[in-house]
Amino acid sequence: MKVPHRLYLSEEQLPKAWYNLRADMPEQPDPLLNPATHQPAKLEELYPVFCEKLAKQEMDSTTRWFDIPEPVQEIYKMYRPSPLIRAYSLERALDTPAKIYYKFEGNNTSGSHKLNSAIAQAYYAREQGLRCLTTETGAGQWGTALSEACSYFDLALTVYMVKVSFQQKPYRKAVMQTFGADVIPSPSDTTEAGRRILAENPETGGSLGCAISEAVEKAVTSEGCRYVLGSVLNQVLLHQSVIGLECEAAFEMIGDYPDVIIGCAGGGSNLGGLIAPFMRDKILGKHDPRIIAVEPASCPSFTRGKYAYDFCDTGHVTPLARMYTLGSGFMPSANHAGGLRYHGMSPILSKLYHDGRMEAVSYEQTKVFEAAVYFAKKETILPAPESSHAIRAAIDEALRCKETGEAKTILFGLTGTGYFDMTAYTAFHDGTMKDYIPTDADLQKGFDGLPQM
Ligand SMILES: *Cc1c(COP(=O)(O)O)cnc(C)c1O
Repeated sequence: MKVPHRLYLSEEQLPKAWYNLRADMPEQPDPLLNPATHQPAKLEELYPVFCEKLAKQEMDSTTRWFDIPEPVQEIYKMYRPSPLIRAYSLERALDTPAKIYYKFEGNNTSGSHKLNSAIAQAYYAREQGLRCLTTETGAGQWGTALSEACSYFDLALTVYMVKVSFQQKPYRKAVMQTFGADVIPSPSDTTEAGRRILAENPETGGSLGCAISEAVEKAVTSEGCRYVLGSVLNQVLLHQSVIGLECEAAFEMIGDYPDVIIGCAGGGSNLGGLIAPFMRDKILGKHDPRIIAVEPASCPSFTRGKYAYDFCDTGHVTPLARMYTLGSGFMPSANHAGGLRYHGMSPILSKLYHDGRMEAVSYEQTKVFEAAVYFAKKETILPAPESSHAIRAAIDEALRCKETGEAKTILFGLTGTGYFDMTAYTAFHDGTMKDYIPTDADLQKGFDGLPQM
Protein backbone atom coordinates (compact mmCIF):
# COMPACT_ATOMS: atom_id res chain seq x y z
CA MET A 1 0.00 0.00 0.00
CA LYS A 2 1.30 3.44 -0.87
CA VAL A 3 1.12 5.69 2.15
CA PRO A 4 -1.08 8.73 1.37
CA HIS A 5 0.49 12.17 1.45
CA ARG A 6 -1.69 13.26 4.34
CA LEU A 7 -2.83 10.90 7.05
CA TYR A 8 -5.89 12.12 8.90
CA LEU A 9 -7.61 10.34 11.73
CA SER A 10 -11.40 10.49 11.77
CA GLU A 11 -13.17 12.56 14.42
CA GLU A 12 -14.01 9.36 16.31
CA GLN A 13 -10.33 8.42 16.45
CA LEU A 14 -9.34 11.64 18.22
CA PRO A 15 -7.75 11.03 21.64
CA LYS A 16 -10.29 11.24 24.48
CA ALA A 17 -7.67 11.34 27.22
CA TRP A 18 -4.26 12.94 27.64
CA TYR A 19 -1.35 10.68 28.47
CA ASN A 20 0.85 11.45 31.47
CA LEU A 21 4.31 10.08 30.69
CA ARG A 22 5.42 10.50 34.31
CA ALA A 23 3.22 7.53 35.26
CA ASP A 24 5.57 5.30 33.24
CA MET A 25 8.88 6.91 34.09
CA PRO A 26 10.97 4.63 36.31
CA GLU A 27 12.43 7.67 38.04
CA GLN A 28 10.54 10.92 38.52
CA PRO A 29 11.78 14.42 37.77
CA ASP A 30 12.75 16.18 41.02
CA PRO A 31 9.87 18.06 42.68
CA LEU A 32 9.24 21.79 42.45
CA LEU A 33 10.66 23.56 45.49
CA ASN A 34 9.29 26.48 47.45
CA PRO A 35 11.84 29.23 46.74
CA ALA A 36 11.78 30.51 50.34
CA THR A 37 12.13 27.21 52.22
CA HIS A 38 13.72 24.99 49.53
CA GLN A 39 11.22 22.31 50.61
CA PRO A 40 9.07 20.51 48.03
CA ALA A 41 6.22 22.84 47.06
CA LYS A 42 2.82 21.78 48.41
CA LEU A 43 -0.21 21.65 46.19
CA GLU A 44 -1.98 24.42 48.12
CA GLU A 45 1.04 26.68 47.67
CA LEU A 46 0.41 26.63 43.94
CA TYR A 47 -3.25 27.66 44.22
CA PRO A 48 -2.68 31.43 44.45
CA VAL A 49 -0.84 31.28 41.13
CA PHE A 50 -2.37 28.38 39.18
CA CYS A 51 -5.92 27.09 38.66
CA GLU A 52 -6.63 24.22 41.03
CA LYS A 53 -7.21 21.48 38.46
CA LEU A 54 -4.05 22.52 36.63
CA ALA A 55 -2.02 22.58 39.84
CA LYS A 56 -3.25 19.03 40.52
CA GLN A 57 -2.20 17.90 37.06
CA GLU A 58 1.14 19.55 37.65
CA MET A 59 1.84 17.53 40.78
CA ASP A 60 0.33 14.24 39.64
CA SER A 61 2.95 11.71 38.57
CA THR A 62 0.80 8.59 38.98
CA THR A 63 -2.45 9.09 37.03
CA ARG A 64 -1.65 7.70 33.61
CA TRP A 65 -4.64 9.06 31.68
CA PHE A 66 -6.60 12.29 32.19
CA ASP A 67 -9.98 12.50 30.42
CA ILE A 68 -10.10 15.42 28.04
CA PRO A 69 -13.20 17.39 29.15
CA GLU A 70 -16.04 17.37 26.60
CA PRO A 71 -15.93 21.15 25.93
CA VAL A 72 -12.19 20.87 25.24
CA GLN A 73 -12.77 17.96 22.86
CA GLU A 74 -15.41 20.08 21.10
CA ILE A 75 -12.88 22.81 20.28
CA TYR A 76 -10.16 20.30 19.42
CA LYS A 77 -12.53 19.02 16.74
CA MET A 78 -12.51 22.45 15.07
CA TYR A 79 -8.84 22.08 14.13
CA ARG A 80 -7.81 18.53 14.98
CA PRO A 81 -6.72 15.98 14.08
CA SER A 82 -3.70 17.69 12.65
CA PRO A 83 -2.30 15.94 9.60
CA LEU A 84 0.66 13.61 9.64
CA ILE A 85 2.30 14.35 6.32
CA ARG A 86 4.62 12.10 4.34
CA ALA A 87 7.27 14.41 2.88
CA TYR A 88 7.50 12.67 -0.49
CA SER A 89 8.70 15.79 -2.26
CA LEU A 90 11.41 16.51 0.31
CA GLU A 91 12.55 12.87 0.20
CA ARG A 92 12.87 13.02 -3.60
CA ALA A 93 14.78 16.30 -3.46
CA LEU A 94 17.21 14.89 -0.88
CA ASP A 95 17.44 11.63 -2.81
CA THR A 96 17.27 9.77 0.48
CA PRO A 97 16.06 6.24 1.17
CA ALA A 98 14.62 7.56 4.47
CA LYS A 99 10.89 7.97 4.91
CA ILE A 100 10.20 11.41 6.34
CA TYR A 101 6.98 12.27 8.16
CA TYR A 102 6.01 15.46 9.89
CA LYS A 103 3.15 16.26 12.21
CA PHE A 104 1.87 19.67 11.17
CA GLU A 105 0.45 21.76 14.02
CA GLY A 106 0.22 25.06 12.15
CA ASN A 107 -3.38 24.63 10.92
CA ASN A 108 -5.01 27.02 13.37
CA THR A 109 -4.99 30.79 13.82
CA SER A 110 -2.32 30.72 16.54
CA GLY A 111 -0.11 29.11 13.91
CA SER A 112 1.26 26.55 16.34
CA HIS A 113 0.65 23.63 18.68
CA LYS A 114 0.12 26.06 21.58
CA LEU A 115 -3.65 26.08 21.17
CA ASN A 116 -3.77 22.48 22.45
CA SER A 117 -2.84 23.57 25.96
CA ALA A 118 -4.38 27.07 25.82
CA ILE A 119 -7.85 25.60 25.40
CA ALA A 120 -7.37 23.21 28.31
CA GLN A 121 -6.04 25.91 30.60
CA ALA A 122 -8.76 28.44 29.75
CA TYR A 123 -11.40 25.75 30.23
CA TYR A 124 -10.22 24.87 33.76
CA ALA A 125 -10.00 28.56 34.67
CA ARG A 126 -13.57 29.08 33.54
CA GLU A 127 -14.73 25.99 35.38
CA GLN A 128 -13.20 27.36 38.57
CA GLY A 129 -15.18 30.58 38.13
CA LEU A 130 -12.17 32.81 37.48
CA ARG A 131 -12.59 36.02 35.54
CA CYS A 132 -9.17 36.69 34.11
CA LEU A 133 -5.83 35.16 33.20
CA THR A 134 -2.36 36.57 32.67
CA THR A 135 0.51 35.16 30.72
CA GLU A 136 3.72 35.92 28.89
CA THR A 137 4.46 35.38 25.23
CA GLY A 138 7.74 35.31 23.35
CA ALA A 139 7.23 35.03 19.64
CA GLY A 140 3.50 35.58 20.13
CA GLN A 141 2.13 32.14 19.31
CA TRP A 142 1.24 31.35 22.89
CA GLY A 143 -0.35 34.75 23.46
CA THR A 144 -2.40 34.30 20.31
CA ALA A 145 -3.45 30.78 21.25
CA LEU A 146 -4.49 31.86 24.73
CA SER A 147 -6.35 34.90 23.33
CA GLU A 148 -8.37 32.54 21.16
CA ALA A 149 -9.08 30.24 24.10
CA CYS A 150 -9.96 33.07 26.51
CA SER A 151 -12.33 34.74 24.10
CA TYR A 152 -14.05 31.37 23.56
CA PHE A 153 -14.50 30.86 27.31
CA ASP A 154 -15.23 34.52 28.06
CA LEU A 155 -12.18 35.30 30.20
CA ALA A 156 -10.23 38.55 30.24
CA LEU A 157 -6.55 38.17 29.35
CA THR A 158 -3.41 40.27 29.88
CA VAL A 159 -0.41 39.22 27.82
CA TYR A 160 3.13 40.38 28.61
CA MET A 161 4.96 40.14 25.32
CA VAL A 162 8.77 40.06 25.18
CA LYS A 163 9.73 43.53 23.92
CA VAL A 164 11.90 42.48 20.96
CA SER A 165 9.10 40.30 19.62
CA PHE A 166 6.56 43.05 20.25
CA GLN A 167 8.69 45.29 18.02
CA GLN A 168 9.50 42.62 15.42
CA LYS A 169 5.94 41.39 15.06
CA PRO A 170 3.36 44.18 15.36
CA TYR A 171 0.67 42.09 13.68
CA ARG A 172 0.84 39.49 16.43
CA LYS A 173 -0.41 42.16 18.79
CA ALA A 174 -3.22 43.00 16.39
CA VAL A 175 -4.33 39.37 16.28
CA MET A 176 -4.36 39.10 20.06
CA GLN A 177 -6.32 42.34 20.32
CA THR A 178 -8.80 40.97 17.81
CA PHE A 179 -9.52 38.20 20.29
CA GLY A 180 -9.86 40.79 23.06
CA ALA A 181 -6.51 40.49 24.87
CA ASP A 182 -4.60 43.37 26.47
CA VAL A 183 -1.00 43.18 25.20
CA ILE A 184 1.85 44.88 27.10
CA PRO A 185 5.52 44.91 25.97
CA SER A 186 7.77 43.45 28.69
CA PRO A 187 9.63 44.56 30.72
CA SER A 188 7.04 47.23 31.48
CA ASP A 189 6.40 49.75 34.22
CA THR A 190 3.11 48.06 35.14
CA THR A 191 4.71 45.69 37.67
CA GLU A 192 7.36 45.80 40.42
CA ALA A 193 9.36 43.09 38.64
CA GLY A 194 9.27 44.99 35.34
CA ARG A 195 10.30 48.27 36.95
CA ARG A 196 13.21 46.57 38.71
CA ILE A 197 14.46 44.91 35.53
CA LEU A 198 14.13 48.20 33.61
CA ALA A 199 16.04 50.08 36.29
CA GLU A 200 18.93 47.62 36.00
CA ASN A 201 18.89 47.40 32.23
CA PRO A 202 16.79 50.11 30.52
CA GLU A 203 17.74 49.01 26.99
CA THR A 204 16.83 45.35 27.41
CA GLY A 205 14.71 43.70 24.74
CA GLY A 206 13.24 41.52 27.45
CA SER A 207 13.10 37.77 27.79
CA LEU A 208 10.53 35.12 28.51
CA GLY A 209 11.85 34.96 32.07
CA CYS A 210 11.10 38.68 32.64
CA ALA A 211 7.70 38.45 31.08
CA ILE A 212 6.81 35.48 33.31
CA SER A 213 7.71 37.49 36.42
CA GLU A 214 5.43 40.30 35.32
CA ALA A 215 2.55 38.02 34.42
CA VAL A 216 2.76 36.12 37.72
CA GLU A 217 2.86 39.36 39.69
CA LYS A 218 -0.14 40.75 37.83
CA ALA A 219 -2.10 37.52 38.47
CA VAL A 220 -1.46 37.34 42.21
CA THR A 221 -2.27 41.03 42.69
CA SER A 222 -5.56 40.92 40.71
CA GLU A 223 -8.91 39.63 41.97
CA GLY A 224 -10.22 36.36 40.41
CA CYS A 225 -7.11 36.05 38.30
CA ARG A 226 -4.53 33.31 37.74
CA TYR A 227 -1.37 32.87 35.75
CA VAL A 228 -0.99 30.33 32.96
CA LEU A 229 2.13 29.20 31.15
CA GLY A 230 2.45 27.89 27.61
CA SER A 231 5.37 25.51 28.01
CA VAL A 232 7.89 23.95 30.43
CA LEU A 233 5.32 22.78 33.01
CA ASN A 234 4.23 19.16 33.37
CA GLN A 235 0.58 20.09 32.77
CA VAL A 236 1.46 21.63 29.40
CA LEU A 237 3.32 18.51 28.29
CA LEU A 238 0.29 16.51 29.40
CA HIS A 239 -2.07 18.51 27.16
CA GLN A 240 0.38 18.37 24.27
CA SER A 241 0.33 14.57 24.40
CA VAL A 242 -2.55 14.78 21.88
CA ILE A 243 0.14 15.38 19.26
CA GLY A 244 1.97 12.16 20.01
CA LEU A 245 -1.19 10.11 20.53
CA GLU A 246 -2.50 11.14 17.12
CA CYS A 247 0.87 10.24 15.56
CA GLU A 248 0.84 6.88 17.27
CA ALA A 249 -2.65 6.11 15.89
CA ALA A 250 -1.66 7.26 12.38
CA PHE A 251 1.49 5.12 12.37
CA GLU A 252 -0.61 2.15 13.48
CA MET A 253 -2.89 2.77 10.51
CA ILE A 254 0.00 2.52 8.06
CA GLY A 255 1.82 -0.24 9.93
CA ASP A 256 5.02 1.73 10.48
CA TYR A 257 6.90 3.06 13.51
CA PRO A 258 9.40 5.93 13.68
CA ASP A 259 13.09 5.05 14.11
CA VAL A 260 14.02 8.65 14.82
CA ILE A 261 11.80 11.32 16.38
CA ILE A 262 12.90 14.94 16.19
CA GLY A 263 11.46 18.10 17.68
CA CYS A 264 12.54 21.63 18.41
CA ALA A 265 12.80 22.45 22.08
CA GLY A 266 12.13 25.83 23.66
CA GLY A 267 10.53 24.89 26.94
CA GLY A 268 9.93 21.37 25.70
CA SER A 269 6.15 21.19 25.33
CA ASN A 270 5.76 20.18 21.69
CA LEU A 271 8.60 17.71 21.93
CA GLY A 272 7.31 16.31 25.22
CA GLY A 273 3.86 15.88 23.65
CA LEU A 274 5.13 14.43 20.40
CA ILE A 275 7.32 11.81 22.03
CA ALA A 276 5.04 10.87 24.94
CA PRO A 277 3.70 7.51 23.68
CA PHE A 278 6.97 6.68 21.88
CA MET A 279 9.06 7.40 24.97
CA ARG A 280 6.68 5.15 26.90
CA ASP A 281 7.39 2.33 24.40
CA LYS A 282 11.10 3.02 24.78
CA ILE A 283 10.93 2.96 28.57
CA LEU A 284 8.87 -0.23 28.51
CA GLY A 285 11.33 -1.83 26.09
CA LYS A 286 8.79 -2.29 23.27
CA HIS A 287 10.60 -0.09 20.74
CA ASP A 288 13.83 1.82 20.73
CA PRO A 289 13.42 5.02 18.71
CA ARG A 290 16.13 7.67 18.86
CA ILE A 291 14.70 10.89 20.21
CA ILE A 292 16.41 14.17 19.41
CA ALA A 293 15.75 17.66 20.79
CA VAL A 294 16.92 20.55 18.61
CA GLU A 295 17.71 23.94 20.05
CA PRO A 296 19.31 27.19 18.87
CA ALA A 297 23.07 27.53 19.35
CA SER A 298 22.30 30.95 20.83
CA CYS A 299 20.18 29.50 23.65
CA PRO A 300 21.61 26.02 24.28
CA SER A 301 19.85 24.86 27.47
CA PHE A 302 20.30 21.13 26.85
CA THR A 303 23.63 21.08 25.07
CA ARG A 304 25.50 23.58 27.23
CA GLY A 305 23.26 24.15 30.26
CA LYS A 306 23.52 22.75 33.78
CA TYR A 307 21.12 20.28 35.36
CA ALA A 308 20.27 22.29 38.44
CA TYR A 309 17.49 23.80 40.51
CA ASP A 310 16.64 27.19 39.10
CA PHE A 311 13.90 29.76 38.96
CA CYS A 312 11.53 29.55 36.01
CA ASP A 313 11.57 33.34 35.70
CA THR A 314 14.02 36.24 35.86
CA GLY A 315 12.25 38.02 38.72
CA HIS A 316 12.49 34.95 41.00
CA VAL A 317 8.84 34.74 41.95
CA THR A 318 8.20 31.17 40.72
CA PRO A 319 8.97 27.85 42.44
CA LEU A 320 12.37 26.29 41.75
CA ALA A 321 12.48 23.51 39.17
CA ARG A 322 15.32 21.08 38.55
CA MET A 323 16.03 21.33 34.87
CA TYR A 324 18.67 21.97 32.25
CA THR A 325 19.16 25.70 32.53
CA LEU A 326 21.39 28.55 31.44
CA GLY A 327 20.48 30.47 34.60
CA SER A 328 17.35 32.59 34.99
CA GLY A 329 19.42 35.74 34.41
CA PHE A 330 20.65 34.51 31.01
CA MET A 331 19.56 36.95 28.30
CA PRO A 332 19.69 35.21 24.94
CA SER A 333 20.72 37.26 21.92
CA ALA A 334 17.90 38.58 19.78
CA ASN A 335 17.78 35.53 17.52
CA HIS A 336 14.73 35.02 15.37
CA ALA A 337 13.27 31.91 16.95
CA GLY A 338 11.43 33.75 19.72
CA GLY A 339 9.74 30.58 20.96
CA LEU A 340 13.10 28.96 21.69
CA ARG A 341 14.61 31.80 23.72
CA TYR A 342 13.98 30.36 27.16
CA HIS A 343 16.72 29.76 29.73
CA GLY A 344 15.33 26.49 31.09
CA MET A 345 13.75 23.28 29.89
CA SER A 346 10.84 21.05 30.91
CA PRO A 347 11.78 19.10 34.08
CA ILE A 348 10.35 15.93 32.47
CA LEU A 349 12.53 16.22 29.37
CA SER A 350 15.48 17.33 31.49
CA LYS A 351 15.21 14.14 33.52
CA LEU A 352 14.89 11.96 30.42
CA TYR A 353 17.89 13.67 28.84
CA HIS A 354 19.90 13.39 32.04
CA ASP A 355 19.12 9.66 32.17
CA GLY A 356 20.37 9.22 28.61
CA ARG A 357 16.97 8.43 27.09
CA MET A 358 17.16 11.22 24.54
CA GLU A 359 19.74 13.31 22.67
CA ALA A 360 20.07 16.99 21.91
CA VAL A 361 21.74 19.02 19.17
CA SER A 362 21.99 22.74 18.51
CA TYR A 363 22.14 24.70 15.26
CA GLU A 364 23.06 28.24 14.30
CA GLN A 365 20.18 30.19 12.86
CA THR A 366 21.52 30.66 9.32
CA LYS A 367 21.73 26.86 9.02
CA VAL A 368 18.17 26.67 10.29
CA PHE A 369 16.85 29.19 7.77
CA GLU A 370 18.63 27.41 4.92
CA ALA A 371 16.63 24.34 5.86
CA ALA A 372 13.43 26.39 6.28
CA VAL A 373 13.66 27.82 2.76
CA TYR A 374 14.56 24.44 1.25
CA PHE A 375 11.63 22.81 3.02
CA ALA A 376 9.19 25.57 2.00
CA LYS A 377 10.13 25.16 -1.64
CA LYS A 378 9.62 21.40 -1.57
CA GLU A 379 6.68 20.98 0.79
CA THR A 380 4.84 24.30 0.13
CA ILE A 381 4.52 25.17 3.83
CA LEU A 382 6.22 28.30 5.20
CA PRO A 383 7.64 27.00 8.48
CA ALA A 384 8.09 28.90 11.74
CA PRO A 385 11.75 29.56 12.63
CA GLU A 386 11.29 27.42 15.75
CA SER A 387 9.96 24.47 13.76
CA SER A 388 12.76 24.88 11.25
CA HIS A 389 15.24 23.69 13.86
CA ALA A 390 13.55 20.30 13.67
CA ILE A 391 13.52 20.48 9.86
CA ARG A 392 17.29 21.07 9.86
CA ALA A 393 17.92 18.05 12.03
CA ALA A 394 15.52 15.88 10.02
CA ILE A 395 17.19 16.83 6.74
CA ASP A 396 20.62 16.08 8.18
CA GLU A 397 19.39 12.71 9.42
CA ALA A 398 17.90 11.93 5.99
CA LEU A 399 21.22 12.87 4.35
CA ARG A 400 23.06 10.51 6.70
CA CYS A 401 20.63 7.78 5.61
CA LYS A 402 21.60 8.54 2.03
CA GLU A 403 25.24 7.88 2.89
CA THR A 404 24.55 4.67 4.77
CA GLY A 405 21.70 3.49 2.56
CA GLU A 406 19.40 3.02 5.57
CA ALA A 407 15.67 3.44 4.92
CA LYS A 408 14.86 4.83 8.34
CA THR A 409 11.48 6.24 9.25
CA ILE A 410 11.96 9.79 10.50
CA LEU A 411 9.21 11.70 12.29
CA PHE A 412 9.55 15.35 13.14
CA GLY A 413 7.26 17.94 14.66
CA LEU A 414 6.41 20.83 12.35
CA THR A 415 5.10 23.00 15.15
CA GLY A 416 3.90 26.01 13.21
CA THR A 417 3.89 28.49 10.38
CA GLY A 418 6.15 31.50 9.95
CA TYR A 419 3.89 34.21 8.50
CA PHE A 420 4.77 36.61 11.29
CA ASP A 421 8.48 35.94 10.94
CA MET A 422 9.11 37.63 7.62
CA THR A 423 11.57 40.09 9.19
CA ALA A 424 13.67 37.04 9.96
CA TYR A 425 13.26 35.56 6.49
CA THR A 426 14.15 38.95 4.99
CA ALA A 427 17.32 39.14 7.10
CA PHE A 428 18.22 35.68 5.85
CA HIS A 429 17.63 36.58 2.19
CA ASP A 430 19.56 39.87 2.56
CA GLY A 431 22.48 38.08 4.13
CA THR A 432 22.29 40.27 7.24
CA MET A 433 21.31 37.44 9.59
CA LYS A 434 24.02 36.81 12.15
CA ASP A 435 24.79 33.72 14.17
CA TYR A 436 25.21 34.37 17.86
CA ILE A 437 26.94 31.76 19.93
CA PRO A 438 27.45 32.65 23.58
CA THR A 439 31.00 32.21 24.86
CA ASP A 440 31.70 30.08 27.93
CA ALA A 441 32.19 33.36 29.81
CA ASP A 442 28.73 34.56 28.72
CA LEU A 443 27.21 31.33 29.98
CA GLN A 444 29.16 31.48 33.22
CA LYS A 445 27.38 34.75 34.08
CA GLY A 446 24.08 32.92 33.87
CA PHE A 447 25.39 29.98 35.95
CA ASP A 448 26.72 32.37 38.61
CA GLY A 449 23.12 33.42 39.23
CA LEU A 450 21.89 29.89 39.98
CA PRO A 451 20.35 29.64 43.45
CA GLN A 452 22.71 28.20 46.08
CA MET A 453 21.18 24.95 47.31
C1 LIG B 1 6.43 28.05 21.30
C2 LIG B 1 6.82 27.36 20.08
C3 LIG B 1 7.85 26.40 20.10
C4 LIG B 1 8.66 26.06 21.32
O1 LIG B 1 7.96 25.74 22.46
P1 LIG B 1 8.01 24.29 23.12
O2 LIG B 1 7.30 24.47 24.39
O3 LIG B 1 9.43 23.91 23.27
O4 LIG B 1 7.29 23.41 22.19
C5 LIG B 1 8.15 25.74 18.94
N1 LIG B 1 7.51 26.02 17.79
C6 LIG B 1 6.52 26.94 17.72
C7 LIG B 1 5.87 27.21 16.42
C8 LIG B 1 6.16 27.63 18.87
O5 LIG B 1 5.18 28.52 18.81
